[in-house]
Amino acid sequence: MKLHELLKRCEDVANNPNKYVIEWKAKTGRKAIGGVAPFPPDEIIYAAGALPVTMFGGAVAPTDAYKYFPQFYCSVVTTSLQLGIQGSYRELSAVVAGCCCDGLKDFVENWKSAVEIPIIDCIYPANRKLEAARVYFTKELRQASERIQAITGHKTTDLDLQHAITLHNEHRAVMREFAEVAVDHLDIFTPTVRHNVFKSALFMDKAEHLELVRSLIDELKARPVYDFKGVRVISTGIIIDVPDILKMLEENNIAIVGDDVVQESKRYETDTPNGIDLYYQIATRWSNMEGSSLLFDVEKKRGTMLLDMLKNRKADGILYVLLKFCEIDEFDYPIMKQIFREAQVPELFLETENVYSNDQQAATRIQAFKEMVGK
Ligand code: SF4
Repeated sequence: MKLHELLKRCEDVANNPNKYVIEWKAKTGRKAIGGVAPFPPDEIIYAAGALPVTMFGGAVAPTDAYKYFPQFYCSVVTTSLQLGIQGSYRELSAVVAGCCCDGLKDFVENWKSAVEIPIIDCIYPANRKLEAARVYFTKELRQASERIQAITGHKTTDLDLQHAITLHNEHRAVMREFAEVAVDHLDIFTPTVRHNVFKSALFMDKAEHLELVRSLIDELKARPVYDFKGVRVISTGIIIDVPDILKMLEENNIAIVGDDVVQESKRYETDTPNGIDLYYQIATRWSNMEGSSLLFDVEKKRGTMLLDMLKNRKADGILYVLLKFCEIDEFDYPIMKQIFREAQVPELFLETENVYSNDQQAATRIQAFKEMVGK
């Protein structure tokens, strides 16, 4: 496929994941299982023969979900529940949920009452660095795996799980490489186009997405580096899936040159290490992850990691996108703001809901940020 075809494929899947899931199921004769954001156990779903489909909610008014949630819950959980209630997830045979906040715990219980698709809860321990936490999480992963296998009808062998881990590590590596290579082609990778590559990965078979992104990188490496004159930012937050915001950034000649966004690069930073007990290795990956408001960390390494990325990618500032009512990220923000201020890093702060935002306020902030950076 040529470059424009590869990008079109990403755009199509990102905009219509249901179509992709239906076609994948018809082609393979296998089942699809949802993984509720932020970090679902994709490897154990894949090893059990199913397509892992990551759920971050979507562009829908959560009218029915508000019968279960008060209105001050984040739009990831409210719109995911709404999509479940209205049947948008009917292609999924089950969903797996766990990690990392009270909203998600409530989501599991509400889903059980409101939606017929079975939900498998898998508790991610908050105090991740303890050996006891790794042992506990290993048990949780095994239990979740057994319940997933009961649904797919496929008994996961060690070979299946090793294959899934290897594939996911290869995919993580290629996504990290893509994020670096894309910086040299900011004429092509506007915030929207870049986002489509990351978003399509949430739904596509990892083997297929791996080949797609490899081809994309090959195409890009054959092109000359583009000398971008606009504003370069590092984005941070849980999710930046608001088409209008991405478009506004583009219209103001602002490019994303790196990110630690949970829906984008954060999920690819850390590999599952090698070892004998494969479930324990997946638990160890959770223990090894760093630098997100969702990952308990008294040292708040997120700030240092962002400043390092800012320097390495020659960025002009930080784009902090706070998902409304995400308490965990709200608690992190004042600490991050202080770190950015001390480092004298320009910061663009936007508050959004999953796919909606206050457009007028965002437009004003984006323009003011651009003027402040002076490009
Ligand atoms: S966005 Fe925040 S509050 Fe919502 S599910 Fe994720 S971690 Fe929880």
